[in-house]
Amino acid sequence: MRSNKRYTNTNFTKRVDHEAGRHRPARAPREPAVCKSCGAVYARRRWTDANADRGISEPKHWRPARMTTCPACKQKQCGSPGGYLRVEGSFVIAHREEIEQLLRNEAGRAAMDNPLGCIMNSTEGRDGTFTLATTTEHLAQRLGHALEKAYGGTIDYDFSHENKLARVKWARN
Ligand SMILES: [Zn+2]
Repeated sequence: MRSNKRYTNTNFTKRVDHEAGRHRPARAPREPAVCKSCGAVYARRRWTDANADRGISEPKHWRPARMTTCPACKQKQCGSPGGYLRVEGSFVIAHREEIEQLLRNEAGRAAMDNPLGCIMNSTEGRDGTFTLATTTEHLAQRLGHALEKAYGGTIDYDFSHENKLARVKWARN
């Protein structure tokens, strides 16, 4: 009976090894995955915005999505912005809603090119001034440029190569 037990143990050990081998992590993250914070979807090795049009050809073998946190939300949570956009001037007070709408639209378009770029938060300043923090330096520049294109005004870029931080200021009175 002893020899019989040993045989069982060997068999068991073998099976454990086999299972461990099968569950080795793949090189790319498992797909599809959904960000539990913003709803961004990871499929076909890229992150896309929650509202992005992914076309009608979803894979037939579509599996339940894995819940995770996308790179942009990870950055939001650890709170290190890549850029700031300061918006100021009397024009801003009079057209605040319009400006915010434009910024949201532009950020949405930018997210289709690079889902890692998004607005982290908005801080109110004095006299209707507000400052947006963005995850990437590029998005702060892009948003500032969009304001200038739509409404004129003046724009200042200040880019620190040392810490890859863009400070953009757009103003119109
Ligand atoms: Zn996210």
